[in-house]
Amino acid sequence: MGKTVIHWFRRDLRITDNTALHAASKASESVVPVYISSGWKNNHHWTGSNRQSFLCGSLSALDGNLRAVGSRLVIRQGDAVAELEKLVAETGASAIFYNRDPDPFGRSVEERLAKTAARLGIEIHAFKDIAIHERREVLTGAGETFRVFTPYSKAWEKLPKPPIVERIKKLTSPNISSLELPTLASWGLPPAAGGVLEPGEKAARERMREFLDRGLARYGANRDIPFGRHTSRLSQDLRFGLLSIRELHQACLQKADSLDAAGRGSAMKYIAELVWREFYMQILWNYPEVLAQEFNPKYRGMKWPGTLANFEKWKNGETGFPIVDAAMRELRETGFMHNRTRMIAAMFLTKDLHLDWRLGEQYFMQTLVDGEIASNNGGWQWSAGTGADAAPYFRIQNPWSQTKRFDPDAAYIKKWVPELRDVPAEKLMDAPPPGVRLVKNYPPPVVDHSAARDITLELFKSSLS
Ligand SMILES: Cc1cc2nc3c(=O)[nH]c(=O)nc-3n(C[C@H](O)[C@H](O)[C@H](O)COP(=O)(O)OP(=O)(O)OC[C@H]3O[C@@H](n4cnc5c(N)ncnc54)[C@H](O)[C@@H]3O)c2cc1C
Repeated sequence: MGKTVIHWFRRDLRITDNTALHAASKASESVVPVYISSGWKNNHHWTGSNRQSFLCGSLSALDGNLRAVGSRLVIRQGDAVAELEKLVAETGASAIFYNRDPDPFGRSVEERLAKTAARLGIEIHAFKDIAIHERREVLTGAGETFRVFTPYSKAWEKLPKPPIVERIKKLTSPNISSLELPTLASWGLPPAAGGVLEPGEKAARERMREFLDRGLARYGANRDIPFGRHTSRLSQDLRFGLLSIRELHQACLQKADSLDAAGRGSAMKYIAELVWREFYMQILWNYPEVLAQEFNPKYRGMKWPGTLANFEKWKNGETGFPIVDAAMRELRETGFMHNRTRMIAAMFLTKDLHLDWRLGEQYFMQTLVDGEIASNNGGWQWSAGTGADAAPYFRIQNPWSQTKRFDPDAAYIKKWVPELRDVPAEKLMDAPPPGVRLVKNYPPPVVDHSAARDITLELFKSSLS
């Protein structure tokens, strides 16, 4: 291999246990670490200020980490393939290293890059990094991909796991020009929500340590309670590769060894959630049509007759269903929503308001800091009843009984819907009588849940006939 190679950073914004970066540093004396920022301006239908601001902070932290080991982050902007071609010409690099992306968009760029590299006569070295097991590693006995989670997770568990590679301690790079680190202004975006977590590898590692020390042993018992912090809050860190999934998985197993039986069970429950992430990645990878269509072919072309006026109420947290409104306002104010309330809000949009899951999927992608195509599509299709759920479409959660189960003191509701702070908790557990407002400035429920449920059952049945 030549004197200089390129490491193309994508969803792997860290220097610890980074497979492709580590390989690049071993392969050559000099590595150009580059991030290519996209050139769109103003609104984007698939991302927004919250996630982009976390990205900006994480790039700045990555630049700091690279400087600490003798290098720096090179920023370019535009089409990734064209920019990499320019960088090859500028540096005389003989190879490009990168970690593979499971998304159709990322993969189409990889395909174009392979053609350009062949034309230029340079090598491409692509690595598995984003997942412990990729696209066609977890297979049925007949060599088929899985469409259902439980057998997938059993097969996933049995496979040998890839090793961790060491953190970069020194990196030599040629002195070449770089654009400024991007800011929200680079894309013409307004400020992000106030509650977005601290970006960067260091902050992510602190969150991981804190969770392993204090959260993992109780995760199984408390993970469904949306009020307070009972989950790891590592989704944005995994989304941007601030943490290595291999390291997190191994650290959970090690910690589990030091816990009692209940703690070990809790750690295994947590690992199962990490496996859901990979399950949805392999679904998107093997069945990319899920981005446009229902995963379950029986429901393709289904009608969603809800109104856009109700979609606005849902987005603004003004449906009159306190648990749904709390969830939507948590999202608006922090760029995050708890998993339990993601399910409640998503099921409400599709099965109470009868709106197409793709509308909700897009709104979540625009607002979530952890917005990730595979998990988001999987979560939406699961909630809508069109996805990889072993239970049939008539799994329709009742938002009121969900409130009683998971927010019995209405602590979550009162945190995010201040109008309801003085309403006794028991009044928030059931629909108020028709036409009655709980308080002057909070709307009555936009629909009657049981009538809406009947309509949903009809919609699904007529799609089957
Ligand atoms: C409608 C809907 C949309 C969703 N959209 C996204 C998304 O865009 N990005 C995203 O990362 N997750 C998404 N999820 C999954 C889940 O809600 C979040 O991963 C989780 O709430 C993040 O919080 P945490 O890190 O504290 O999770 P924890 O409970 O601590 O879980 C640990 C990690 O496991 C993974 N994980 C947990 N639950 C799931 C799941 N159901 N599916 C896939 N991975 C999971 C995440 O990487 C998470 O960080 C969605 C779920 C639903 C129902």
